[in-house]
Order: sequence, then C-alpha cells, then structure tokens
Amino acid sequence: MTIKLFHRDQYQTEFQARVIEQRERPDGTWEVYLDRTLFYPTSGGQPHDTGFLDGIRVMEVLETETPMVSEVEPGRNPGLIAHIVGAPVPTSVTAVEPGRSPGTILHVLEKSCAAPQVTGRIDWPRRFDHMQQHAGQHILSGAFFRLLGTQTVGFHLGKEEVTIDLALPALAPAEAAAAEDLANDIVFENRAILAHWVAPEELVNYPLRKPPARKENIRLVEVEDSITPPCGGTHPRRAGEIGLIKILGIERVRKDIRVHFVCGQRALQDYRLKNGWVTEVGARLSLPGPEIVAGVERLLTSLKEKDKALEELREDLLQYQVEGLLARRKRIGPEPISQSLRLSKRMDDASRNPAGKLPPESPPAPEEGLGLTSQESEPPEKVGERDDVAYYLINEVLADRLPAELRTLATRLVAKGRTVAVLASEKEAEQLAQLVVARSQDVPLDANALLKKGLLPMEGRGGGSPFLAQGAGKREKLSQARQAIDEAVRQAVLPRRSSALS
Ligand SMILES: [Zn+2]
Repeated sequence: MTIKLFHRDQYQTEFQARVIEQRERPDGTWEVYLDRTLFYPTSGGQPHDTGFLDGIRVMEVLETETPMVSEVEPGRNPGLIAHIVGAPVPTSVTAVEPGRSPGTILHVLEKSCAAPQVTGRIDWPRRFDHMQQHAGQHILSGAFFRLLGTQTVGFHLGKEEVTIDLALPALAPAEAAAAEDLANDIVFENRAILAHWVAPEELVNYPLRKPPARKENIRLVEVEDSITPPCGGTHPRRAGEIGLIKILGIERVRKDIRVHFVCGQRALQDYRLKNGWVTEVGARLSLPGPEIVAGVERLLTSLKEKDKALEELREDLLQYQVEGLLARRKRIGPEPISQSLRLSKRMDDASRNPAGKLPPESPPAPEEGLGLTSQESEPPEKVGERDDVAYYLINEVLADRLPAELRTLATRLVAKGRTVAVLASEKEAEQLAQLVVARSQDVPLDANALLKKGLLPMEGRGGGSPFLAQGAGKREKLSQARQAIDEAVRQAVLPRRSSALS
C-alpha cells in the first residue's frame, strides 16, 4: 500500500518519496510506484491530481488493490504475503493505521524516473478546485437530505460542471432553491470540515444518512453537525473556502433527478460569463437587465406576427405566379372538340404554309415549337378520342429560385390536371441550374424519365417519383435540356406515339 499524504494534509503541494517500482506500459508511458504520495487517485467521484515527479509530467493517478512486490515486508503486513504473486489484496486482511487506507497508488508518467528518491509537486489550482467542488457536493447533498429526506445516488465531478443524482420523482425549482440556500448558509457560517477514521463499532455514534459500503477503514467527513457518507476525497478545512454553491439546472434522468451545479472558482467564472451575456443582450436591446426577458418576449411575438404576414404574402405571390404560368401554358395534342370539326381544312392550310400561319378564323395560335402541324399527314381521328389526349405543357425558366420553391410551384401547376410542368431556375454567376419536372395524376408520363432526358445534356444529377422529380446540372446547357424534355413530352403525348414514355 502507498502512504496517502493527501489524507494527512490536504494543503501540502510538495513531497519527497522513494521510488519502489516502475515499469513501462505498452503505450510507452511509465507506471511509477512510490512509498508515499500527495497525488490523489481518481476515486469516489473525484478526479486525480496532476503535476510532476522530478519534472516529469504525471498524466494519470490510479488506485489499485494489487500490491507492489517489493513493498511487502515480512512481519509487518503478514496478510499480504499470500499476494506476492499479484492477486488482489482483500481489504479485510490489510492492516491499516489511522490516517491510512489500503490500496496502492499508481502514477502514470511520460517517462521513467531516473533517481531512487523523487520530489513530487501537485497542480494546486486543480486540486483546490476539486476540493471546492467535492466539499460543496457533500453540503448540497446534505441540504437535500435535510429538506426532503432524499438520498444522493450519483455524483460526477466533471471538467465544467458537477452533478448529483437524487432519488426523487420530481424536484420543484423552489425546493432546489431552498436546498441551495441552506447549503450556502453552511458555507457562510464557515463551518469546520473534519475528516477522520472510525472503527466499525464506533459507527453507531454517528447519524449517517446511509450505512457505509465498506466494513473497515471508514473515513467520515463531518461538517459540524452534518455527517457525510464515508469519503476518501480531499476537502478544505472550512466550508467558507468553498466560496459559493450555485445550482445551474435540474433534469430528469431515468427515475432520478439530476442537479447540475458549480462551486467556488467555477461559480465565479459562471457568474462572470453569464453576466457578460446579460450585459451584451441588454445592450443590443437597449434595455436594463431586469427588462431583458420582457423585451425578448416582445421581440418573439413581433417576429411571429411578421412570419405570419410574410407567409400570407408568400402565398399571395405564389398564387399570382401560378396564375401567370398557367396563362402561358401550351396545349399539346389535338385541337379541342369545337375546333376539331374544322381540323381537316386547317391542316390542309397548314401543309400549304410551311411557316405554320393559320387562317384568320383559327383559335389563338399554338406557341412556336408545338409541332402540331408537323404531323398533318396523319388522318384526323374521331373527335371524342382525340380530345381525351389533349395535355398542357408549362416549360419556363425562373430567376433565382430555391429547389423547394420550384417544387411548390410545379405541384400547384399540375394540380389543375392534364399538365406537365417543367420549371428551371438559374442564377447569375452560378454554374448549376435547377430543374423540376412534375405531372398531373391523369398524365401517363414518368416525371423522373422526363427529368433524366433533361439532365443528360446538362450532365446533371437528380431523381424523384413518377409524379415529381428534381435535379441540377450545367446551366449553359439548360435550353437544350428544356428542349429535350419538350420534345419528349410531345412525342409521348401526340396521338401517333402516345405511349413512348408512359
Ligand atoms: Zn468527500
């Protein structure tokens, strides 16, 4: 076992010790065993100390129950003799003097120690921080016990925060505040904190919150009239050194309540940080601290109202755009019924006019590129059948739209029925253009296949469902892409090739 100097004087920062054993670890660091140490090992929720042994950095400190081979002297610790082979030492056979506890401390160093005698120095700010947090935890746990009769079932001393888990189904903010007040009262009264070893038979004299886990080598920590559960950690002599105990938050973790808090220097840092935030927010809002919350509330309400108004405006704009695009849609397929009656004559006229000029009595001219008159040699079909296969195509480029906007627009457009919508968006200085293809439920075409036709010249990527597909590709090839889709739709829809893409 190692003599634990930190139990004799928790304020001592330097010590001399004899190196008993050292061995290299597989990772190249060294395990060093000393006859005595000030380095507190990670245990009981308190992290280990750091520092130096003869100028070599101590990276980790652990406690093990396996004794060092060379520490066992005949006659002194007879119980250990059986364990020279390296088996764990049961604590019950280890002789422990008051002020000592069983267990061997292992220091992990960057390299081995050169001399048989070393000087050790611990990182005092780190140790003192742990003392503040650890003692603060005892006092806060004691306050929760006194007020609510609740046990602390978990403790974690983290790099930034400390937590305790309370065996409680719920904890009201007012109850947490009362415990915080009580704990700080103990700090402000600057009560003495005493640690001492007691024999098992003496335990009946102490009002412990719960029975100790071990039967021997019991170290009690008393904060005057309040006794903590047995603890081997380091604590300041007086509660005033803890400084301040501040609860930061409460959360439910499984069936317990976890209380987050900080003590001492950490509480000061936390206050400084949060005071900075409050000051900053107050300055931005031009409000004094107490009015900040109401100010933020007003901001959020106003923001919500503006969001709602913006949403309504967007909807109006969208509707306006949808109407504009629908007005420019192109009809593909045979003429409507009323005009079909005159179709033969029109087609004859068209065949004589390669430019596609229509007689004056014709309905509004189909847009250029529609290709209606390129099929004129086909004999007219029966009126009813032909009207069934008339569709509309919207093929437009919009400036600087998000893919989601294109999708929304396209979806609205095809809701009208018998419509294929091809919407593209391009933005100056951007190499990629967006492309969306959508079709109505009653159009037997595959939007995904149409999109692929467009993405081919654009060397683009994308995909989607048979109803709605989206992609992006080279902007410079956008007109080719739109043309390719346009042609594919016409080929598929016009009577002679009506199933090309379906
Ligand atoms: Zn403790």
